Amino acid sequence: MSIIDLQKENIKNLSPYSSARDEFKGKASVFIDANENPYENGINRYPDPTHSQFVKTILKKYNVLKKNIIIGNGSDEIIDLVFKSFCEPNKDNIMLFEPSYGMYKVLADTYGVKTLSSKLDNNFDIDLDNFFEVYNNRTKVIFICSPNNPTGNLLSKNKIIEILENTNSIVFVDEAYIQFSSKKGVLDLINKYEKLIVSHTLSKFYGMAGLRIGLGFANKKFIDILYKVKLPYNISNFVLEEAEERLEDDFYINKSFSIIKSRKKLVKDLYKYSFIEKVFLSEANFLLIKFKNANKVFNFLKQEGIIVRDRTKLYNCQNCLRISIGTEFQNKILLNSLEKYKE
Ligand SMILES: *Cc1c(COP(=O)(O)O)cnc(C)c1O
Repeated sequence: MSIIDLQKENIKNLSPYSSARDEFKGKASVFIDANENPYENGINRYPDPTHSQFVKTILKKYNVLKKNIIIGNGSDEIIDLVFKSFCEPNKDNIMLFEPSYGMYKVLADTYGVKTLSSKLDNNFDIDLDNFFEVYNNRTKVIFICSPNNPTGNLLSKNKIIEILENTNSIVFVDEAYIQFSSKKGVLDLINKYEKLIVSHTLSKFYGMAGLRIGLGFANKKFIDILYKVKLPYNISNFVLEEAEERLEDDFYINKSFSIIKSRKKLVKDLYKYSFIEKVFLSEANFLLIKFKNANKVFNFLKQEGIIVRDRTKLYNCQNCLRISIGTEFQNKILLNSLEKYKE
């Protein structure tokens, strides 16, 4: 079955909105075809729906072609576009792995699509036997978060390939944290597997969560479908120009690489506390930490003015808190506080 056949019935025959700039792309001296305000002020024109200028900057960093990319208002919008074009309400279901990122289920609930869940194994990797038990022939999208939030580890690429080879579903690999990791992820597979989509974001490693820019990568057939349902002007010119400038400035990138160093140091420093049972191996910019009594630590840190994420209620995360790697100064404040904690 091709990606074309997986579209929702109403999307198969949808003719997308055609903007003035879609209909005339050449050079001209007078543009009076889009009901824009004619007085040039830097922002009176509509943005380019394919974000061509910005995509050129992205292509310098990625070994893909323009036809393989779609830009979203955050990678959450890339997830949204997949639901919008493929998931038939009250019929299809999606699959995710637990514990993982909360947004997949929220969007499934929003679109009236059931969520099936496969449990990650004790190393927080995919359990293929459990996966194939839960999977069924109405599973339209399988969400795989790697490195996984909140556990921090990569999921095994071979198992992801097994899933691609043995299902008829879209496989959505969310690589929001991949730049913090020692491995390359699965981007190299997008032209081999038609049903694979990979999302990246400028929100984490690139430090631009406030701008809202996400990147979707897939083969051309897949990207063309997402373009049918994407709102044409989903990102503003201001935002794209700001992002371009910062992407080309090594100052920000070097700071992000220092987070990887701080992560290694923080893991070592945390292990000297007897009230910490385990610091899970992380390939991201956060650590999942298992305490003897997570609630007590959480409340203690809160009193100290330090807010961490309570993950104790997620599957297999009893007594676990998630802590983002801070600046060296912030990490020191955290350690100084833990020094004062009494079991
Ligand atoms: C933070 C995060 C994102 C990023 O979402 P944006 O909309 O791009 O800011 C995506 N997926 C996961 C798993 C995340 O943790």
